[in-house]
Amino acid sequence: MEGVELPFCELCQRTVFDSRRGHVYTSCHRKAVTRITNRFLAKVTEARQCISSPRVARLEDVTAYAMFWCPVCSCEAPRHSTAANRAVLLAAGILEHCAGAKHRRSLPRFCHEHRVAKELKDNFVVDESDYHKYLEAAVLALSEFERKCKDEIMQENRENQLRENIKEIIIQGSTKPVVVLAKHVTSTAAAAAAAATAATTLNSRLGPGRRF
Ligand SMILES: [Zn+2]
Ligand SMILES: [Zn+2]
Repeated sequence: MEGVELPFCELCQRTVFDSRRGHVYTSCHRKAVTRITNRFLAKVTEARQCISSPRVARLEDVTAYAMFWCPVCSCEAPRHSTAANRAVLLAAGILEHCAGAKHRRSLPRFCHEHRVAKELKDNFVVDESDYHKYLEAAVLALSEFERKCKDEIMQENRENQLRENIKEIIIQGSTKPVVVLAKHVTSTAAAAAAAATAATTLNSRLGPGRRF
């Protein structure tokens, strides 16, 4: 056997000593095929759920550059897609890969080679029309995500400004900034609570008879 390179089965992760043709019928190979295709199918099924309602996350909240293994093409591909403004489209990479030409080309060979049931074939690909639908929905989801982010930033800025105002009032210890305080205490319960704290502090400084 010296000098002869034995084939290696990627699905079983073992060297094939018997004939390659015979190997695909062995129980260990059949089990590996079932395990791997089920796992892959679960990923594709989950990704498909995003077609009508794309999921967007912040870059810092997910493993944005995670990869997934495609047994059909025998390659790794990005799981998600990053977009502008630190947004990540979850599972977009899986959808893109499974709708792609390379994946479609590899599928018949994979199914034939590993004797995957014909009826399962369609489950391993994403229709091109579905992928286009997804892209359209993703554009809307991204703009909604950006709008929410802007609102959050504006709200945060308002709260920071309010905190600064309250700090100023406490430091000055005078009744003059009360007008400023009242002007800002309109938005959130948090702001109202912060203002109440500031008022209590002021009252304790002003003493009896000079309530704020
Ligand atoms: Zn095998
Ligand atoms: Zn593939």
